Order: sequence, then C-alpha cells, then structure tokens
Amino acid sequence: MQVDFLIVGQGLAGSLLAKALLRRGRKIHVVDDRWKSASSQVAAGLMTPLTGRRFTLTKDYPELFAAARSRLSELGVFRPTEVYRMFVDEDQRDKGLKRTACSGCQPFIARVTSARGELDATLTDEFGGALMNGAWVDLPKLLSEVRSELVAAGSLTEATFDPDDVTTSTEGVVWREVHADAIVYCDGYKSAQRGPFKYLPWQPAKGEALTLRASVEDRPFILNREGWALPLGQGVWRTGTNWQWDQLDEIPTEPQKEKLIRRFRGYFTQDVQVEVDSHIAGVRPCTSDNHPFMGTHPRQARTHLFGGLGPRGTVWAPLMADEMTDYLCEGKTLRKECDLARFPAA
Ligand SMILES: Cc1cc2nc3c(=O)[nH]c(=O)nc-3n(C[C@H](O)[C@H](O)[C@H](O)COP(=O)(O)OP(=O)(O)OC[C@H]3O[C@@H](n4cnc5c(N)ncnc54)[C@H](O)[C@@H]3O)c2cc1C
Repeated sequence: MQVDFLIVGQGLAGSLLAKALLRRGRKIHVVDDRWKSASSQVAAGLMTPLTGRRFTLTKDYPELFAAARSRLSELGVFRPTEVYRMFVDEDQRDKGLKRTACSGCQPFIARVTSARGELDATLTDEFGGALMNGAWVDLPKLLSEVRSELVAAGSLTEATFDPDDVTTSTEGVVWREVHADAIVYCDGYKSAQRGPFKYLPWQPAKGEALTLRASVEDRPFILNREGWALPLGQGVWRTGTNWQWDQLDEIPTEPQKEKLIRRFRGYFTQDVQVEVDSHIAGVRPCTSDNHPFMGTHPRQARTHLFGGLGPRGTVWAPLMADEMTDYLCEGKTLRKECDLARFPAA
C-alpha cells in the first residue's frame, strides 16, 4: 500500500492530524495499538482559560481557543461550559478581581465572586471564585469516530509499532506492507521512551481520574480547585487529577483514588456519598518548556513528530494540527516556540 504519510498513534494528535491531512487530499495510514497508552482516553478534555496559582491567561490562549472551537465544533465534540474556579486564598481572590479589569481576560470571565455561597450556597468557596467561559471536549467520541472512519477506509492497522521495524531509503519509509513518503510520530509520551525523538527534553507526567456517581445535584458548570469535577448528568461526574513524574504507567493507584474522592467531597458543604464507576490513569506528554514538539528529525528528513501537547492538548492540538499540515504539505514555517529545532539533537 502506497500512502503519503504513515501516522503512528491515534490519540488526539494523530486523530486531528489525520483529519487535516485527509482534508488536504493526502493519503494516509495510521498504526495504533488500541489506545493502550492514550493520554487522550484519560483526559477530561477541559479548556480552562485562566490557570495556575497566579490565575493567568496564557499568551496564545485566545487564538488557540478560537481555532479549537471552530475545528472541534465541526467535528461535533466541542462542549462550551462554564468553569467555576474556587479561589484557594485571599491572594488568589485579589488576583481574580484584578483580572476582571484586564481586557484580554474579560471575554473569558463571566463573573467573579468574593465570598462563600454567592454563586451556589452548597459550595465550599470560602474565598469566592471566578466563573469562566470554558469548554470541554468529548474526546472518547472524537477518538472513536475518527477510528471508525479510518477502519472503514482501510486506513488503520491495529498493532504495536516498533521504530526498529521501519526502513528508510531515498524513496521513502517502509513499515510492513505500508510504503509512505514520510512517517509522523503522534505516539504521545512513548516518544520520550524510545525511537528517534527520545533526545528531546520531555517531562512526561502521570495523572489519574475517576468517574463516579455522587449524591449531589448536577451543576451547570465545571468545578475547579487544585483539581476539577466535570458533571456529566444524572449524578455522574468525572473528577481528577494529580501529577506524578516517576512510575510512568497506566496503572491507577488506591492512594490517589482516596485523595480524589476526598477532594471531590471537599467541594461541597453537605455530606456526599460516592460510588466509583471507573478509575483510570494516563501519562501526559509534557515538555520542558510547555510547548508542543513539531517538525522534522534533524538527521532523518522523512521522520516527523507531532506531539508534546502536555496538559492542555485540547487547546493546542486543533490549530497545531492545521499548522503541522501546512508544514508537511506546503513547507510552511512552523512557529518557533513549537518547532522541535529549538532543541539541538544529541
Ligand atoms: C489525567 C489526565 C488529565 C488530563 N486532562 C486534560 C484536560 O482536562 N484538558 C486537556 O486539554 N488535556 C488534558 N490532558 C492532556 C491530554 O490528554 C494530552 O495533551 C493529549 O491527549 C495528548 O494526545 P496525544 O495524541 O499526543 O497522545 P496520546 O493520547 O497518548 O496518544 C498516543 C497514541 O499512540 C498510541 N501508541 C503509543 N505507542 C504506540 C506504539 N508503539 N504502537 C502503536 N500505537 C502506539 C497510544 O496507544 C495512543 O493511542 C490530560 C492528561 C491526563 C493524563
């Protein structure tokens, strides 16, 4: 089989890149191991405009968010939802109040409260909070619909890919029966562990999440303080998460489960009964400078990477998939802060 691009991995990056290349009329083939280590399967897919202890709006957020809203709406997986960030102390409340005067932040802040119960009497928002215009992305729907499309077109091989099985020549790359002009790694944090892009400064971080049934009313917004809780309707919530830089695997742990339940209960003033439906873990493909890794291997002209989406893949991936496609198909320059050429090869 002859294609233009062989894509390794069908998480968020591989799925959106595949769609973008197909829109350009390129022939593709995707190899994926059934999402065995997909961060995209674990993520709640939240898009939170102002983040961190300092409660700041990241530089490129408005541009990235606008592109994500448009691209993901076309795919029917964009869910605009308010996010209520409960402040942790007075300092954060002061910062939150200041942000309402910042013109860049204003489109993303619906309301700031400064005392407990102003928005919702049953929340433990001692220092008030900020209600933000955010969203979440239905990643399970996105991944399964793209997969069905690829399967129907005969463009997906379900297998564990090993970089050593690829042969590269002046004519192209060959993996099993697939002959491609080039290969694009979209295999999440696995590229940090082996293969041609291992040399890059990855900082993968494990996180866990729960789906649970709780004896609290659904809210029309996502709750956010240290972690988050996403109401899915009919008493079902997704809640997470934590950060761990060692023991990088997909194994959920009992201590984290207890911690996530405690934190979830802590959002409410009342006693909350919970029943855990599922508990999952994944590894975020984070990078040392919090920007994606995109571009071509310094010594292998037919070997490309689209990854390093970090903890905010839903914000980065839609626009970056389009820019990666411009780069692959038309040779357009990548933005400097995302081009992997910013790091010298080992
Ligand atoms: C707990 C947690 C919570 C998160 N919450 C959010 C959030 O709220 N909002 C947000 O925007 N982001 C969030 N993220 C981050 C988000 O998940 C990532 O940025 C994004 O999903 C990464 O997508 P990816 O396609 O690069 O990698 P992945 O989703 O990891 O996809 C890689 C794919 O490649 C496959 N693969 C890997 N190796 C091989 C191989 N050898 N052979 C074949 N296939 C292979 C994998 O199985 C997988 O299907 C969270 C992540 C975690 C872990």
